[in-house]
Amino acid sequence: MKKVKFLDLHSQYLTIQKDIDAAIKSVITNSSYIGGSNVADFETNFSRYQSADHCIGVGNGTDALEIAIEALGFESGSEIIVPANSFIASSEAVTRAGHRVVFADIDPVRYTISIDDVRKKISSRTRAIVAVHLYGHPCDMEGLLALAKSNNIKIIEDCAQAHGAEIKGKRVGALGDVGAFSFYPGKNLGAYGDAGAVLTNDKNLAVKIRMIANHGRIDKYNHLIEGRNSRLDGIQAAILNVKLPHLDKWLDHRKKIAEIYLSGLSGLNSITLPIIDDGVRHAFHLFVIRTLDRDKLVKFLNEKKIETGIHYPISLPKLTAYQHLCISGTTPIADSQDGSLLSLPIGEHLKLEEVYYVVDMIKNFYGH
Ligand SMILES: *Cc1c(COP(=O)(O)O)cnc(C)c1O
Repeated sequence: MKKVKFLDLHSQYLTIQKDIDAAIKSVITNSSYIGGSNVADFETNFSRYQSADHCIGVGNGTDALEIAIEALGFESGSEIIVPANSFIASSEAVTRAGHRVVFADIDPVRYTISIDDVRKKISSRTRAIVAVHLYGHPCDMEGLLALAKSNNIKIIEDCAQAHGAEIKGKRVGALGDVGAFSFYPGKNLGAYGDAGAVLTNDKNLAVKIRMIANHGRIDKYNHLIEGRNSRLDGIQAAILNVKLPHLDKWLDHRKKIAEIYLSGLSGLNSITLPIIDDGVRHAFHLFVIRTLDRDKLVKFLNEKKIETGIHYPISLPKLTAYQHLCISGTTPIADSQDGSLLSLPIGEHLKLEEVYYVVDMIKNFYGH
């Protein structure tokens, strides 16, 4: 068995090479580097795919979050609740937009934000919750939306890992007030550089988001506000237009791999497998298990030429970047679980026999 790769962008490219090359060439032929028909088409295509009324292409997923928060227009220093297990962009965007991060703990088996802890962390200054659909499993949006309604606060969905994910047949992204997507190359739908998008069903909010992302302009040199420069570029949009029609097929392949892991590893008491809630379409950006033997297992799998990942090795509140908040101990589940999380290889690049090999090697490690 040759190396089982965690990610293999080149093998995906080879399956769509002709279309990608033609798309890039046409952008160069037309010099439509910023804006243009590829960006407009992608915004239409992606909003349709995710069932949202409006899509605004932006520079990357972090900007998407930050611009979404800015557009909601909270008074500066408002509190925004963020799950303690995520990529730092989820909380970084809050601080960058001029607000205060309040971390909520995670659900011990779903790894997404804990509704019970969110309830405890809501104060009179809370204005929003960042709902991160972590690993591709949607948060409990019903619970979060009910809390948001009764406390008059907004929901920002962080969908960077959840393209195509659904709750009861409804795609994530516009279930809350606004949704942020990343098309970083390694995501389920990835560009060939940085790219992102914001989705919303609120027309006024969409206008504001587009304005902020493009220098506050409504016309070439007519600027209503000071905005910034965060635009989806033409080459990335052309690439995303080629890739989007393949996404469902790729997500189905991820699901097949997840099913092999779930049934193959179900007999191992030392491993906690991910839970998939009823009525949910999990996008399986990551397949994350939990084991107290994590570091030894990583070493063993590495010797068997199996690459793995850790998402995330340090919970956000424990990062050096947040020590000034003095919040030690307020998110005990996330803070204690980070030492046992392990991401197994998953993606459209993997052959099923490679997945069976990973299962066999993990069973081997545990003496089965
Ligand atoms: C990747 C990611 C982001 C940031 O996206 P970029 O495009 O890299 O800026 C935000 N949130 C989560 C959960 C992510 O995984």
